[in-house]
Amino acid sequence: MADEPDFDVIVIGAGVAGTVTAYLLAQQGLSVVLIERGEAPGSKNFSGGIMYCTAMKSVFPNFLDEAPVERLIDRNEIVFLNADSWVGIDYGDRRLAKAGTAVTVLRAHVDAWLAEQAEAAGAMVMPGVKVDALLKEGSRIVGVKAGEDELRARVVVAADGVNSFIARDAGLRPKPATDQQALGVKALFKLDRAVIEDRFGLDGNRGVAYSLVGDCSQGVGGGGFVYTNKETLSVGLVLRLDDLVKKGKRSTDVFDHFLEHPLVDAMVRGGELIEYGSHLVNEGGEKMMGQIVFDGLVLVGDASGLTLNTGLTVRGMDLATGAAIAAAKGIAEAIAKGDTSATGLAAYKRELDASFVGQDMHTYAKAPHFLENERMYGQYGQLMADVLHEVFCLDTTPRKHLLPTARGVLKQSGIKLTRLGKDGMEGVRAL
Ligand SMILES: Cc1cc2nc3c(=O)[nH]c(=O)nc-3n(C[C@H](O)[C@H](O)[C@H](O)COP(=O)(O)OP(=O)(O)OC[C@H]3O[C@@H](n4cnc5c(N)ncnc54)[C@H](O)[C@@H]3O)c2cc1C
Repeated sequence: MADEPDFDVIVIGAGVAGTVTAYLLAQQGLSVVLIERGEAPGSKNFSGGIMYCTAMKSVFPNFLDEAPVERLIDRNEIVFLNADSWVGIDYGDRRLAKAGTAVTVLRAHVDAWLAEQAEAAGAMVMPGVKVDALLKEGSRIVGVKAGEDELRARVVVAADGVNSFIARDAGLRPKPATDQQALGVKALFKLDRAVIEDRFGLDGNRGVAYSLVGDCSQGVGGGGFVYTNKETLSVGLVLRLDDLVKKGKRSTDVFDHFLEHPLVDAMVRGGELIEYGSHLVNEGGEKMMGQIVFDGLVLVGDASGLTLNTGLTVRGMDLATGAAIAAAKGIAEAIAKGDTSATGLAAYKRELDASFVGQDMHTYAKAPHFLENERMYGQYGQLMADVLHEVFCLDTTPRKHLLPTARGVLKQSGIKLTRLGKDGMEGVRAL
């Protein structure tokens, strides 16, 4: 008879996906160990910082009151940047704060809190340990190897983030293509709380999220963001990896250029840079997911190819939470049935596909292709600014109505009306 495994479940990686999976499984009385290579959960983690938190609230109903969240987002600004101008949509809605569906978070705080919940539910949290490899018996994953130690479990959960070396090194997942990943660069600027609230017109715990596109990425496919926290601003860019290489740009130079844009400069002015880093982001959408259930192993969160960038929102943490909920259900069922083969664990994939995660990945399947459209990163922002310039720059030239003005600007830009119409339709279908 085979030895009893050390744990029912080993979870690799204490990000959102791993910690929520560990919490939910421990809550059901399973023996769970959560292994994290960072000194503390969250210490190595990276995100722009908007958490769409409805899924998280379904796991922790008091999440907004008890977790260390920053601000409730009830204003979203979508802004096209040009070299000397910007044009935006300012969408504020008190219903958003009331619904409490989006908050800014700092991962070092929120991931540590999530790990505390997992520990309180009975999971063993093991920080400062890097899993080096999966243990295999035939085609079956039976545990993990960390340094000289080997731990065995009925199920291993790879929640080790976007690179997921664990599954890749075991030959279970291919290396993602460069057109399926982007490079995220993010800085955290410290400012007095009162300065942030004055500068952005905020009160109490309300906050604003800026999504920026255009000149901020110097023609590289991607976009920028500025999110307000209590006493800091999260400022960053997400740049398509293949396009960075193609255009011969360095992400740090593009980021410096972004910070110098008059709109961004006015937001971060006087802020003290307290953190700076870069990290990969999945950008391939639904087609990146591939196989996520194997004999004795499941993949969750970024490790399973999740993350959705629609240009308007960057989502990963809510998808990671949704995947954790589906995985915990599938794993608990498989263990209860005594079948943790890929077939026994298949309920996870079914749950995931039926959940908002699978459905949203499907709905936005065309978004990655749409975001490859170069006109989004330059010409269209300039076009809008040029039309508005004609409207507001009142010299003594006789005015024209809006339609002929727009036609004239379009003609000068060299973009055909049919092209504009096609791009518009593609955008409507993709987003
Ligand atoms: C610049 C940028 C901006 C983003 N903005 C947003 C946003 O605003 N909103 C949003 O929802 N999402 C955003 N995302 C995406 C989001 O950050 C990810 O989707 C999310 O962090 C995925 O969570 P995860 O738990 O799957 O992986 P991660 O958070 O990456 O966690 C993986 C964990 O595994 C650990 N680990 C890795 N390898 C090992 C190993 N061998 N042994 C032990 N531990 C290991 C890591 O240390 C880490 O703690 C952004 C990403 C970037 C890069």
